[in-house]
Amino acid sequence: MSHTAELIAVGTELLLGNIANTDAQMISEGLSTLGITVHYHTVVGDNPQRLSEALEIARRRADIIITTGGLGPTYDDLTKQTICKTFHRELELHEDILEEIRTWFQKRMQKKMPENNTQQAMLPVGCTIFDNPVGTAPGCAFEEGGVHVLMLPGPPFECRYMFENRAVPYLRQLTDGVIVSHEIRVYGMGESAVEEKLHGPMTTLTNPTLAPYAKTNEVMLRATAKAETAEAAEELLKPLVRQVREELGDVVYGVDVGSLEEVVSELLRKRGLTLSTAESCTGGLVAKRITDLPGASSIFRGGVVSYTDKVKSEVLGVSEAILSKYGAVSEPVARAMAEGCRRVCGSDLAVSVTGVAGPGTDERGTPVGTVFIGLASEQETLCRQYSCGRGRGRSRVRTSTAQNVFDLLRRYLLRLPLI
Ligand code: ATP
Ligand code: MG
Repeated sequence: MSHTAELIAVGTELLLGNIANTDAQMISEGLSTLGITVHYHTVVGDNPQRLSEALEIARRRADIIITTGGLGPTYDDLTKQTICKTFHRELELHEDILEEIRTWFQKRMQKKMPENNTQQAMLPVGCTIFDNPVGTAPGCAFEEGGVHVLMLPGPPFECRYMFENRAVPYLRQLTDGVIVSHEIRVYGMGESAVEEKLHGPMTTLTNPTLAPYAKTNEVMLRATAKAETAEAAEELLKPLVRQVREELGDVVYGVDVGSLEEVVSELLRKRGLTLSTAESCTGGLVAKRITDLPGASSIFRGGVVSYTDKVKSEVLGVSEAILSKYGAVSEPVARAMAEGCRRVCGSDLAVSVTGVAGPGTDERGTPVGTVFIGLASEQETLCRQYSCGRGRGRSRVRTSTAQNVFDLLRRYLLRLPLI
């Protein structure tokens, strides 16, 4: 049986915009890997009347309701009481939990438990208790008329712990069978174009399912299937993953891979090639991302952050004539930087980056986001011009440039058309 969940976040500070509803994001992501569909996120303030209304609506359209927040000891923490009223359950005192909270205060806070906290030891009759070793408020769950209600604390650290270690095992029992999912990573096609191409499977499939996830500078799709065994789930996923690859083509850079740089590093390793980098506007970001990966020393020789013309010419050997004729942000300079870097670092391949990160244009009026990426090998030097993350700030220009560097390398190494 498939399940539909609704999340209700309780907290006036969420409505005021003081904090973002990150608990809902975390829980939704977790539910999708369990194959549980989420149709609504609701946010209500610390108000019993409106919370009760939200619960009445949710119980009609979902069979799993997960609330966050309002489990604490203060007067505005009324989630449990309101849920019990709405679902006609009594609250009962658990002496053992009360004792644990008392001890927690003694040990962790070096003080006596305030009387208010007694209400945290009050739980719905017949519920499954989610004990909370990372805070004081226990969570809980019960089932009423086919609807499961789960209550989790609001503070993000506690909420994550309780979701992963308490709610997930509870939910797994409801979802018989095994859930397997694959992440399909896409670079070089926007989210709307991806959705247009895959509108059919995204909107009609129920098992397996296909859903997009927003990522910075790329698109991720998750294909999820549920079956009696992992093998049977894999069988359901295979044709879907194949279909996605066919529809999207070579913008799919991997399935269940960590990142573009990971794919590139693997390709370099397989081919026994080394890389070096000459970076201007990215200030070393490309080298950083490569060296974030363990084992980078076998494929990465080194990098030069050639921010000024002086370093471009004195270290990388870019001729001053080229620099003054075309300007630092130009194709001839990108090519010369890549060639010089390859020579200086003694690597098989070298990539170079020169561009305008902004906020201002360069002295020649080159628009922000204009980037040239060069790639030199023993046989050839090539260069591509990009317009990266324009209008979205300096940091986006840089991250999007680094993504383009890795995608250019991936395409080059796989002999795919360079875009
Ligand atoms: P406490 O015992 O700390 O009172 P609680 O379960 O009663 O926990 P709340 O009082 O509703 O939770 O929220 C405590 C804090 O947790 C909030 O001030 C906020 O910083 C954070 N928080 C609550 N709900 C969310 C949410 N949905 N997303 C992110 N943070 C949240
Ligand atoms: Mg609270």
